[in-house]
Amino acid sequence: DETLSALPQNGDGDVETTLRPRKLDEFVGQPRVREQLELVLESARRRGVPPDHVLLSGPPGLGKTSMAMIVAAELGAAIRITSGPALERAGDLAAMLSNLAPGDVLFIDEIHRIARPAEEMLYLAMEDFRVDVVVGKGPGATSIPLEIAPFTLVGATTRSGSLTGPLRDRFGFTGQMEFYTDAELELVVRRAATILDIPIDRDGGAEIARRSRGTPRIANRLLRRVRDYAEVRADGTVNREVARAALEVYDVDELGLDRLDRAVLNALVRSFGGGPVGVSTLAVAVGEEPTTVEEVCEPYLVRAGMLARTPRGRVATAGAWEHLGLVPPPDSGR
Ligand code: ADP
Repeated sequence: DETLSALPQNGDGDVETTLRPRKLDEFVGQPRVREQLELVLESARRRGVPPDHVLLSGPPGLGKTSMAMIVAAELGAAIRITSGPALERAGDLAAMLSNLAPGDVLFIDEIHRIARPAEEMLYLAMEDFRVDVVVGKGPGATSIPLEIAPFTLVGATTRSGSLTGPLRDRFGFTGQMEFYTDAELELVVRRAATILDIPIDRDGGAEIARRSRGTPRIANRLLRRVRDYAEVRADGTVNREVARAALEVYDVDELGLDRLDRAVLNALVRSFGGGPVGVSTLAVAVGEEPTTVEEVCEPYLVRAGMLARTPRGRVATAGAWEHLGLVPPPDSGR
């Protein structure tokens, strides 16, 4: 059951499009990133140039793609969307770049996964709005410089630490997206309920917000599942009682931890005595890629005060033991 996953799931697509905030002032939360971006965009607008390239960093589902679309909308520009894994060959990127119109926004999701040749092509494109296209092979190969339109690159990454230095240096601005507070998620839920025409009261919204793992994508999805329950088993209105009963059916715990979060905590506590244990060992124990554990799961467990990263490995806090209904050992971290 992936009801709680921060990653997009089948069935999210159309609703996510409907629920995406379209303008900066519709975007709930992230006050720092919003203010910083506002300045970057406004100053570029006054100077009549495309703004510096923007890197958005943070866990999945926090609104990086939405923010990229807002940047384009605020600039009145078109947006072209691609992703690091889709740019396997430099030619793929060259095609994309040479089709840009002046002022366009190019959005590259998961930019840390871009292949090396494409990344190197991107350096020159970001810096000089130029690419060198290599024609032919071997000693006869020549490189033809090709002008491209001035554009703004918006890159998104769940892992800014694994961007190479030269790539990171070419972004004029990095926005670090944080997990949302419960109060902010309440606003996200209320906004979505209005758009989707779901009757909801304050407590119902608060209950969903509290269990959404700090993540708007999850909040919007839980709202839809609670709506289903309200329509089938109650009178259609989402209140605290209905939200609680519905979330129990979907196996969403009090903190909104998902299947993987709980698997990681269980392994850490039950198989490794609370740690310290290395992230790759932990990943093998739960049958996941180390990068998924590190980028999707750990950031929230750290923020929820369940897991600590130490130089010797991952450690369960006393809170983690308690959350699993166990008595923490006397020396467990707080
Ligand atoms: P990311 O690219 O970081 O994975 P998205 O931008 O795709 O995240 O956001 C996922 C969904 O969450 C969006 O479709 C939108 O419905 C919702 N969302 C994200 N951020 C916000 C926000 N600040 N306010 C309202 N809804 C949001």
